[in-house]
Amino acid sequence: MAAAPFAAGDSPSPTAALLPHSHSGATPSPRPSSTSSRLHILLTAALAITTSYLLLHHHHRTPLSAAPAATARPQVKLEKPVVILISSDGFRFGYHHKAPLPHIHRLIGNGTSAATGLIPVFPTLTFPNHYSIATGLYPSSHGIINNYFPDPISGDYFTMASHESKWWLGEPLWVTAVDQGIQAATYFWPGSEVKKGGWDCPEKYCRHYNGSVPFEERVDSILGYFDLPSDELPQFMTLYFEDPDHQGHQVGPDDPAITEAVEHMDEMIGRLIDGLEARGVFEDVNIILVGDHGMVGTCDKKLVFLEELAPWIELEKDWVLSMTPLLAIRPPDDLLLQDVVSKMNEGLRSGKVENGEYLRMYLKEDLPSRLHYSENYRIPPIIGLVEEGYKVEMKRSNKNECGGAHGYDNAFFSMRTIFIAHGPRFEGGRVVPSFENVEIYNVIASILNMEPAPNNGSASFPDTILLPKFCDNVAIFQEEQVYCNQLQELPAGYSVGNNSQC
Ligand SMILES: [Zn+2]
Repeated sequence: MAAAPFAAGDSPSPTAALLPHSHSGATPSPRPSSTSSRLHILLTAALAITTSYLLLHHHHRTPLSAAPAATARPQVKLEKPVVILISSDGFRFGYHHKAPLPHIHRLIGNGTSAATGLIPVFPTLTFPNHYSIATGLYPSSHGIINNYFPDPISGDYFTMASHESKWWLGEPLWVTAVDQGIQAATYFWPGSEVKKGGWDCPEKYCRHYNGSVPFEERVDSILGYFDLPSDELPQFMTLYFEDPDHQGHQVGPDDPAITEAVEHMDEMIGRLIDGLEARGVFEDVNIILVGDHGMVGTCDKKLVFLEELAPWIELEKDWVLSMTPLLAIRPPDDLLLQDVVSKMNEGLRSGKVENGEYLRMYLKEDLPSRLHYSENYRIPPIIGLVEEGYKVEMKRSNKNECGGAHGYDNAFFSMRTIFIAHGPRFEGGRVVPSFENVEIYNVIASILNMEPAPNNGSASFPDTILLPKFCDNVAIFQEEQVYCNQLQELPAGYSVGNNSQC
């Protein structure tokens, strides 16, 4: 059985990422060489025609007041646009102020970043969020509704090691790319080992997850792609690091171990920048550095024990499919779901359950719609929302531990992560309002000139964050080959046309 493809109220529309932008004034003209003066005339004429066309039709276009005024920097060395999408797991927004982090701040200063961070999707867990970034879909649409869950119909169990395509709905970026003839490479990303569409996780371009591979080796492998012949260089690459999530769970977000972990992440970003600079391509590459969610401190007194609800309802352990922070319950069929929710909430509000006021139960269809967490048969029927920093356990124990957790309501500021982007399509020193990570799919599709699959992002979002393409008003091509974005001179044998091929 297929899951509902899209959440109610989220009717996704195929985006128009290939529509030309309307910024005619600032388009840089390619400089003609001395041997191509006739082409220069042609080019000037074409620019004039295109410009007047755009001026004539400008009033039909939606004004893009939020869009930057400049156009993209021309690429110097690489022939095609390239995106490296990097995830630093659990990089809570604000961690980048824990230490100087010169390399990350170089990307921020010369790139575009989200003012108060990137907003994760609910539940703020690793697999749902990474796959939302890759597909532009909410978990209810892409099917990865938790890090682990049973399929209520087949009884099969999803874990973070499940690579069968039946679990992974939607179309991740690496599939969109290869299906449109664009080379992609994944150095770890949830879902990247799944065979889907034209993507079969090829040995040369797809790494099978192994958390013990040193971060340095991961960076160096990405750099190695830039030593390949240009037609073998992937245009889309993912790079994944488990830190600082790993440390955050152990010690919480405010601990010297976190500062150390983010300093190490900064070293890895520096290693990547150095390697790209040594190859003369740093300014040509679009680097997008994100996290999947934030982190909040948890401690022994912030606990709710479900056994204390026994006077109202005795919960069986096997009804509870996920405990904390996302409490997900599927009671047996002979119980009325609404009764279970009512009895639990009655107990939680009675004042007789420790911290009961910090947990509230919902039928999934009654959850706030902003969570987009009901329209999938895989989502258990009863969901509990726990307050920031609280955890749920079955039985009281003598455990006395403090650490960190995520998975909470994505409205909590502690769950926010980073969005930092640098490259020819991102304006330097620009700060944009925070946005949800489902917007990233369309942004990358736009940079790579791909037709995006239907998704929950907004079709107009890329225009608000990207510089218009260098060749928006004019394309330069020789026979079948189209050169967009990189030519500064017009060599002999090239001609000028409209931008329909960009
Ligand atoms: Zn994570």
